[in-house]
Amino acid sequence: MPEALELDAKWRKFAESRCEKTGLRLTPARLGVYAELVVSDRPLSAYELISRQEKRLERKIAPLTVYRHLNFLIEAGLVHKLESTHAYVPCGHPDHAHESHYLLCSSCGRADELESRALEKMLSDMANQHGFRPAKAVVEMTGLCFDCAANEK
Ligand SMILES: [Zn+2]
Ligand SMILES: [Zn+2]
Repeated sequence: MPEALELDAKWRKFAESRCEKTGLRLTPARLGVYAELVVSDRPLSAYELISRQEKRLERKIAPLTVYRHLNFLIEAGLVHKLESTHAYVPCGHPDHAHESHYLLCSSCGRADELESRALEKMLSDMANQHGFRPAKAVVEMTGLCFDCAANEK
């Protein structure tokens, strides 16, 4: 029998409390997809996620199933989808609804989530000035993370 991924207490609590609040049901399969994203040190594309899950579970998985699980996790506020790379990343503070902004390292692929009220306000002020009604406002900055920048010297 292939072994299920163990989620550490912090992430498990995120998942359980989000699902309790939203009334969504956390199944082992959904939790498995979430855990796969949590243990990865960088965002994963749906394709990478499917191949990791197939290796781990030692069976074929229908891509549609994985997309459904991902949509569930996004809806529950546990996972964000990066707009620029279409990769998925677990949210580090899923206790409240928020726009997700990221620093994306183009060398090692890590993604650091930013939360900034000042940035949110600036974006909404700019939209207001144009009479624009925003549906989604996302900032994804690409470049080098601290470690990769240090290694380049
Ligand atoms: Zn987040
Ligand atoms: Zn890096």
